[in-house]
Amino acid sequence: MESALATKGRKNLIGLSRAELEAELAGLGVERFRARQLWQWIYHRGAVSFRAMSSLSARLRDELAERYTLARAEPARDQRSLDGTRKWLLKLADGNLIETVHIPEKDRGALCVSSQVGCTLSCKFCHTGTQRLVRNLEAGEIVGQLLLARDAIGEWPSPEDGRMISNIVLMGMGEPLYNYDNVAKALRIVMDPEGIAISRRRITLSTAGVVPQIRRAGEELKVNLALSLHAVRDELRDVIVPLNKKYPIAELIAACRDYARLNPNRRITFEYVMLKGVNDSPADAKALVRLIRGIPAKVNLIPFNPWPGAPFECSDERAIRAFAEIVMNAGYHAPVRTPRGRDILAACGQLKSDSLRRRASARAKEVAAPAIG
Ligand code: SAH
Repeated sequence: MESALATKGRKNLIGLSRAELEAELAGLGVERFRARQLWQWIYHRGAVSFRAMSSLSARLRDELAERYTLARAEPARDQRSLDGTRKWLLKLADGNLIETVHIPEKDRGALCVSSQVGCTLSCKFCHTGTQRLVRNLEAGEIVGQLLLARDAIGEWPSPEDGRMISNIVLMGMGEPLYNYDNVAKALRIVMDPEGIAISRRRITLSTAGVVPQIRRAGEELKVNLALSLHAVRDELRDVIVPLNKKYPIAELIAACRDYARLNPNRRITFEYVMLKGVNDSPADAKALVRLIRGIPAKVNLIPFNPWPGAPFECSDERAIRAFAEIVMNAGYHAPVRTPRGRDILAACGQLKSDSLRRRASARAKEVAAPAIG
């Protein structure tokens, strides 16, 4: 495999749309149907080297290898939780670090993908929120997380019904709707039936509530929507999800109603992190069901996952059960999300790539070699 380090001067083809890939090959004077073959090699077979592409002529393979690469991000760390959850710390070509998490179930599995390096939202209960945003991820860096996970798990060629990676959740680091264009481009690649071919029904985009982009995603992407609600009163949500000051609850719920209208037969997931004594009272539960009345929805109750220095505690089991019961009695599914990968800080809201701290400490020690390795 061409390593990420050996890519200097060569363009990475991962993340190009089909049209862009065709244009790239047309520039070399290569027929259009070859672009389709190349696409299948990359996204259906998971080829990491042009040399292996046996349906292309030797000359074309050489030419491609000279100009292009299919390099994935480098796994700087690969951790496994006792419950089977696996977390990769990935080093991007520019040295920035992101995390990707695989959550296996008995007969399926979800890959939790990051959309940004860090995050700008600063939700008070989220570890990633304490990290400064470095930048948006490119489409290729988003798709690349999936390719790398498939490489590591050995799930190539793309199976018709993926077992280990059957679902994608955009619930990693970052706010996907603040990186709309790249996320949309990446999802189109992921959904392409001649490649990875994961259907929109198996993709969930989670947002803290960027209202204008929720509407756009509802029209253009039509994936499952998860809304990180977490509070039912603006006074509280303003504090724990500061984005609420820009897009308050009433606007958010209106956008969800629009999304539901545009995507009938689809339920919106409202995510609600259970914070002891903060948002977990029976009155909150009642207000929640009033708020979402009429929206085809389920409510995902997420026990708060602690992280070093976090200013919250997880609600008691009893409080969570009482909350869930009120929501269920109103006719909504209210599963309590089992925390996965807590022991390796891979659970919801625990991701933080430490890129700044690590780089700073490497500088302090005057280490010339890369800080991670
Ligand atoms: N920015 C997007 C994507 C992040 S998804 C969003 O806000 O939806 C991560 C999910 O985990 C969100 O619902 C988030 O609110 C939740 N979360 C964050 N920190 C958490 C924590 N410490 N414990 C449990 N859930 C948390």
